[in-house]
Order: sequence, then C-alpha cells, then structure tokens
Amino acid sequence: MIPVCEPSISKREEELVIDCLRTGWISSAGKYIDLFEESWAAYCGMGHGIAVSSGTAALQISVRLLDLKPGDEVIMPSFTIISCAQAVTECGGVPVLVDSDPVNWQMDVSQIRQKISPKTRAIMVVHIYGHPADMSPIMDLAEEFGLKVIEDAAEAHGAEYKGRKCGGMGDISVFSFYANKLITTGEGGMVLTRSDELGEKARDLRNLCFQKSRRFYHEDLGYNFRMTNIQAALGVAQFERIDQIVERKRSIAKAYWDRLKDATGIVLPVEEPWGRSVYWVYGIVLETVTRMNNEQFSQRLFVQGVDTRPFFLGMHEQPVFHKMGLFVNEKYPVAERLARQGLYLPTGLTIKENEIDQVCNAVRRGLM
Ligand SMILES: *Cc1c(COP(=O)(O)O)cnc(C)c1O
Repeated sequence: MIPVCEPSISKREEELVIDCLRTGWISSAGKYIDLFEESWAAYCGMGHGIAVSSGTAALQISVRLLDLKPGDEVIMPSFTIISCAQAVTECGGVPVLVDSDPVNWQMDVSQIRQKISPKTRAIMVVHIYGHPADMSPIMDLAEEFGLKVIEDAAEAHGAEYKGRKCGGMGDISVFSFYANKLITTGEGGMVLTRSDELGEKARDLRNLCFQKSRRFYHEDLGYNFRMTNIQAALGVAQFERIDQIVERKRSIAKAYWDRLKDATGIVLPVEEPWGRSVYWVYGIVLETVTRMNNEQFSQRLFVQGVDTRPFFLGMHEQPVFHKMGLFVNEKYPVAERLARQGLYLPTGLTIKENEIDQVCNAVRRGLM
C-alpha cells in the first residue's frame, strides 16, 4: 500500500534528539525550544514564535489573544478543519462562514464583506492544502473594518503569497508540526506574531498564566500547551531542510501534473499566478461526468494498493455545530462539492517515482 503521507526523518533528527536525552533536557525548557521558535519566526518574517503542543492548541491561543466578548464573530471558510471553528466557540465566539473559491479551493474572498457585522472581530484565513489564500483583499477588509487577521498556515510551511511567506502576513499566525505536515515535531505547533504584547500574552497562555514575579498567583486562566525540547530538537533538524522539503513537495506535484494533466473526469490543483504552493497534499476533484463520489473512487484506488484521504467536510455540515444551533440550513455549494468529490493522493516525502507511476495508473484505471 502506498501511504498518503510519510515524514522524512534523517540522521540529524536522531543526533539532536539524542542530545536532549543525553543532556537531560527533555521537558519544555532547553535550547532547542528557543532555537526552533526563533528560526521559524524569522523564516516567516515574524518577530515572535511561541512553540506549543499542537496546531489546534496554537489556534486556541490565537483566538484567546482576540479577547472575544460572548457573541463576537470570527469569519472563516467553511471548508477547513474543526480546530478553527472550535477555537472560536471555546472562547464564547461565533464562527461565521464563507464558501470556497471553486478554482483554488481557498476562502472565497468575495463573500467576506457581506458577512461583516458590528460583532465581527477577526478574519481567520486558512491556507488550504499548501496553496496560499488571496491575502490582499483580506488585509484590505481587515484594515477597513479594524479587524484582526489570524492566518492558519498549518498546511502551508514555506508557501508564498506575492513573495511573502504564509504565516507572515496576519496579526497572528498558526502552524502545526503534526507528523503529516511539511515539517514535523511528531506533535506540535506554533503561534507567530509581530506584536510584543500578543507574543508575551501567548507565552503566558501556553504556560497556565503563571506570573513571573509571583508564580502561583493568577490573573488569568491559561493552558499547559508546552512543547518539549525533544520535539523542538526534531523541529530544528527538520527546519534545516525546509527548502529541500518544499522543493521535493513541488516536484511530486509536478510529477502528478505531468502524468495526469490530460486525464478526463478529474480536476487537478491550480497554482495561482500570485501564489507559490507547497502542495502539502495533492488534491484531485472528481467531475460529475464520472458519476462517482470520493468514497467510491477512493475504494477503486485502495484495491489497487493506493491509499487516499477525502477532503474536509465543511463546518456547516457538522452535527456538533448544528446541536449548538450554529450554521443550521446554511449552504455552501462549493465546500459541499469539494467534500463529496475531492480526495488527495499519496505525497509522502519518501514516495518514489515508480510509486507515482503506480498511483497515476491506478487513477486512470479508476476513472474507466
Ligand atoms: C493540521 C491542521 C491543524 C491542526 O493541527 P494539529 O497539530 O493536528 O492540532 C489546524 N489547521 C489546519 C488547516 C490543519 O491542516
């Protein structure tokens, strides 16, 4: 079976992790935490990096930084992972959804303005599947209405929008370093910000809001979202190879494009002229002529030894939110179509050329 995603771990990761074990620096104190935070923040062009235990934790902290009042709204795409919407509801806020762009699958920026209300506090933009969202209109709206911008760049390490790194444009940005992401710490995440004040607040929230001068005295409630030095050591070693990893992902995407560009019945991912995608995954969308949904097609690939994953199911189709009275009867046709027709092919960093051939042959046969 050709797996969907596989990390690439080298001798360097081993060396740095063993250094933590031998020196006893295994908790959330240690030099690799600082080094990982500083290098990742600098790479993205942000001033502060706060390493945390997951991308979901990073989103949670980001939304806490907005200081939402009950009922305050955060605009986001329906087509994303639940961590985004959950971070908002857990802070007493209301996620307000927009549909996806049918061509690049990112948040449809033309739908944001009509969703802005007096309660809107922020736009949470998600760079989906390694491709940047169209940031200029988002930043313009944020400025016009005094909104904060949170960038969820958990799938877009190294991706660029008009020459700027994803995760380097908003007020706050978020990364995940889960094992299937472009660079990994096993489990992990990071909050980035340019603001000294928000950076300090994020550090407090990560560590239970202990006070510096009086440790067991709390003026606010935080979390234990600390990353370990061992995880950060993995991250430092992975970061040393970021350019290589991005190039590798792009070359896998190119290989798929070359082999599948004239296959009928599927739509391949685009790269907008203003963006540089890192193709975190290689998503394809089945056209209606195939009369198949992603489940059926995925089964056809599975029996040929190819593992795939379906696209996200939009937030407006989640029973958990309906139970909370959210998004009832809302319709986002593009997100709905992507959820039923979209799936992604194997793009593990260790995939071989002949395996890509095998996947593409399986896709062609599956379409017959
Ligand atoms: C992976 C992912 C997350 C969550 O990251 P975890 O580390 O798994 O908690 C958040 N947002 C997006 C867009 C993701 O792909």
